[in-house]
Amino acid sequence: MITHICDRCSKPIFKGELRYIARIEVFAAPDAGEITIADLLSDQASEIDRLIKACEKMTEEELMRDVHVLREFDLCRACQKEFVLQPLGD
Ligand SMILES: [Zn+2]
Repeated sequence: MITHICDRCSKPIFKGELRYIARIEVFAAPDAGEITIADLLSDQASEIDRLIKACEKMTEEELMRDVHVLREFDLCRACQKEFVLQPLGD
């Protein structure tokens, strides 16, 4: 009985076979950088207005994807071995 399909090679994974889950999380790095005197003296209201206008053109989903994405993939044993060695491919 097939219980899953490998998301990498599309091979069926049968009941009782080893199956792996690759969880990939991509998120905006929290290192905002140093705040300078020039930053503090700049016109923050106009910068906020500019950012709001830029966000208005994006959907809620696009805004979320810009900040955080979590995906899970089912892998067969062969793909797990290759994935852990080269998660970003060749
Ligand atoms: Zn596979």
